[in-house]
Amino acid sequence: MQALDDAAAHFSYICPIGYSNSSDCGYCRRSRSGQSSKRYSYYAVATSLTPDFYQALIDRCWRRSGTLLYRPNQKNSCCPHYTLRLDSTAFKATKDQRQAVNRFNKHVIGESYAREAARLHPPTREQVRKRNNEFDLAKRIHEPEAPMLKSPPLPAHQFTVALEPNTFTEEKYDVFENYQRIVHKEAPEKISRGGFQRFLCSSPLKHETVTGPDGKERQLGSFHQCYRLDGKLVAIGVLDLLPHCVSAVYFLYHESIHSFSPGKLGALQEIALALEGGYRWWYSGFYIHNCDKMKYKIDFSPQYVLDPETLKWDLLDKEALRLFDQKPYVSLSRERQGISEEPVKESASEIKAGRQDSASDADDLDDGEDESFLFHSGMPGIPSLDQMEEVDMDGLLLRSDYADSFFSASDLVVWEAERISQYGTLKSRIAEMVAAIGPDLMGAICVDFRKRSRS
Ligand SMILES: [Zn+2]
Repeated sequence: MQALDDAAAHFSYICPIGYSNSSDCGYCRRSRSGQSSKRYSYYAVATSLTPDFYQALIDRCWRRSGTLLYRPNQKNSCCPHYTLRLDSTAFKATKDQRQAVNRFNKHVIGESYAREAARLHPPTREQVRKRNNEFDLAKRIHEPEAPMLKSPPLPAHQFTVALEPNTFTEEKYDVFENYQRIVHKEAPEKISRGGFQRFLCSSPLKHETVTGPDGKERQLGSFHQCYRLDGKLVAIGVLDLLPHCVSAVYFLYHESIHSFSPGKLGALQEIALALEGGYRWWYSGFYIHNCDKMKYKIDFSPQYVLDPETLKWDLLDKEALRLFDQKPYVSLSRERQGISEEPVKESASEIKAGRQDSASDADDLDDGEDESFLFHSGMPGIPSLDQMEEVDMDGLLLRSDYADSFFSASDLVVWEAERISQYGTLKSRIAEMVAAIGPDLMGAICVDFRKRSRS
């Protein structure tokens, strides 16, 4: 077991929760107007994730909220969640985005600095020509930052942007409290230090420093990108830095900078980080086509959308957006191949009817099963029960409070007796998680049932 203990640091530790409906959809609030809201997802809790492993997960429609991991079922949702990514190396800012940057830069630098600096440090004619003719995102976004400005003279305001540890501080909480209350219009009694800590400071991601193919050192893990104006924290980008992307978790800002389009500026900073840091891709978080608040995400282009069935990326162009206008669930790969809706393999009612014929199986079925068994959900991109029967899970590693070290799934007393088709059994719960993650990643995980590691 020594070799295993040495390998322990390279595993990702995850505990299955299960497949369920979230009680209320915060995006359309349909449940409040009497219609039913449906937001089915598969859930798990992570105690520790390597950046490589989490990169693989978000490329399979997963996302995290604190330490909670979930993969939504786009086919069974009032507001289907799609994963988007933007290629920072091909990004072109729109006129509106360029104007937001220029307006904020002018505010920070101030007229008298601009005048004085032009006199003390006159740019060459070539520099002036270049600046007027092209919008270099990385250059322009950093232009007002204190370390970039030649002084004297002094700019009107001191502005800094820094990647900091994702730890809780009162300074950060003050911005969160203001943002949730004023911008998000959340009731004050719902805003708490504990909530901020759980939602935006806790992360199962491990920190690593790696050298990219470009020879540059690159930080991986969860960070807070902190924006300070005249020494005061005014905005925070909560980011996951992964091997191939900057993944935006949340962006929050103080009301005092509301008029400068901080959401836009934050996105542009993150795209610049993806470009300069060699991460390449910027993930803006889940995109919900019928949610107006999300429309700003597709103003940044070129953007790609992850196909829930094939797990391949498709360009989100005008034609693709037209399809999203027409129907709530879209598999672009399938649409583009001209293949019509595949027949539903096993509907819940068929399963029920089939089971009633079989006396031995009838007992297995309880009322909650159809709604909460992943293998009956029709969730796109998930192996079927038949496919999972073929997967050898015997060697899957586990940890529990009742054993000092790792053990294999086949060491479990119930392992031989249980079937993965029996909803609610330990074996079926493990099989659901392996299916939702993907059987090919089984060797990278340890199923972690320890209670103490989650406290
Ligand atoms: Zn909804």
